[in-house]
Amino acid sequence: MQDRGGIGVRCEGVVHLYRTFEGHDVVALQGVDLEITPGERVAFLGPSGSGKSTLLALLGGIQRPSAGRIFLGDDDISRMSERHLARLRSRRVSTMLQGATRNLLPYTTARQNVAFARIGLSREEADRAPSVAELLERVGLEDQADQVVTTLSGGQRQRLALACTVATQPQLLLADEPTSQLSHVDRDTVVALLHDLNRDFGTTVVVVTHQHEVAATFPRTVTMKGGRVGSEGREGAEYGVIGAEGVLHLPAHVTPQWPPGTLVRIDAGPRRIVVTHPADETGIPQDEVR
Ligand code: ADP
Ligand code: MG
Repeated sequence: MQDRGGIGVRCEGVVHLYRTFEGHDVVALQGVDLEITPGERVAFLGPSGSGKSTLLALLGGIQRPSAGRIFLGDDDISRMSERHLARLRSRRVSTMLQGATRNLLPYTTARQNVAFARIGLSREEADRAPSVAELLERVGLEDQADQVVTTLSGGQRQRLALACTVATQPQLLLADEPTSQLSHVDRDTVVALLHDLNRDFGTTVVVVTHQHEVAATFPRTVTMKGGRVGSEGREGAEYGVIGAEGVLHLPAHVTPQWPPGTLVRIDAGPRRIVVTHPADETGIPQDEVR
């Protein structure tokens, strides 16, 4: 496989609405600002319905944002023509949907699935891209090459889906819950494969996961909440992200002590904001002041 490097992502005020059959609008994303640098590994966490899958689908060019802009590298994909978007999806960005079988042709063999994933490549690209055999070997399925998908285990299907997703050597790999419903062993294998791709080819990797053990293997976690980017963790440290209208989401583990509606005292300086709980009548702890 050849080194193609990763691609960066930038979201500016991304809003996404779904129109239901009854004609109501559901606001799935309400102003997402996010920057991911080329070659970064990021895990999206957050409760069900917080907009993780929607954001991933927008980054993958599968859906278009209702408002705001999304850049992949220098390209504004929110305004790209359908033809360019299709080209982008077949070359630079690849999305692994939630549920392995949604990415696979169920009644064909592992080998046929990977071959099908490469079908959009030109002759020249196909020569440069990894072969079907190389891809199957990479995910440890060389012995299952001629097995039909329906006879593979959950872990094997997920690994096959991953082989298909990376068949075009994407610069951005997006995976929605790639390890849900897998055994611990299969989960660890899939996670290791994602990190290996990043290490070997510089691929930018973004996963959605509800498993903290999986998120913990990523250098950066982004927590989504109510259609916004909330808190962040980077290499073990916690961060809050200031979003539209000055909204600051706290890390999930502190919210029990700071329920919504809590009136807090804010002391803001040019480099520091101190938030004091009303129960703390003494005000700002002295060791917090700099
Ligand atoms: P998550 O992946 O974090 O669970 P989603 O992105 O799937 O969140 O969903 C975000 C919000 O958008 C939820 O309120 C969900 O019900 C809604 N939603 C998602 N897909 C659709 C759809 N196709 N039609 C209507 N509403 C949707
Ligand atoms: Mg989801």
